[in-house]
Amino acid sequence: MNPLFRFAGGLPVALALCIAPAAAQPAQHAHVHGQLKLDVAVDVQTLTVSIDSPLDNIVGFERAPRTDAERKTAQQAVAQLRAADKLFAIDPAADCKLGQVDLDAPVLGLGQAKAGEPAGHADLEGSFTFECRSPVQARFIDIALFEAFRNVRQIDVQIATPDGQYQRTLKRPAKRLAWGK
Ligand SMILES: [Zn+2]
Repeated sequence: MNPLFRFAGGLPVALALCIAPAAAQPAQHAHVHGQLKLDVAVDVQTLTVSIDSPLDNIVGFERAPRTDAERKTAQQAVAQLRAADKLFAIDPAADCKLGQVDLDAPVLGLGQAKAGEPAGHADLEGSFTFECRSPVQARFIDIALFEAFRNVRQIDVQIATPDGQYQRTLKRPAKRLAWGK
């Protein structure tokens, strides 16, 4: 048993009941076409943007491309994601440069397949690390995902900074994600 529970008196049984079912299954996440999950993590020298999206939002299908047109769509989408400093224009006060980009979309041949994807559907995950002179100075990111990917309608955002955590929802055609004072 987790040592934390030893000090919790009557709580362990209730906690165990709540936790066990979730722990027994692969991580679940919402897969709702049109919605995209975006996380921003502000650290000492980096600002990392991560996205988790139904692949349909990005390319309009959720399987390996079958036609030349679909292959071209996929190639263009991947190129747009790799040029992440065009998709995420960070507040110049933070003085950021794009560093590493990791993309994970197994049906497009990117990254590893993993358990937990709903049958008949597929996701794309991306992680975009910006190297910044003063990431904590950032107060906004201008996000071009709605322009780049026309099936995206809503972006649910969580922002974690040393000063606090924020939640935001952007709906088409909103562009600016802002937080802090
Ligand atoms: Zn889907």
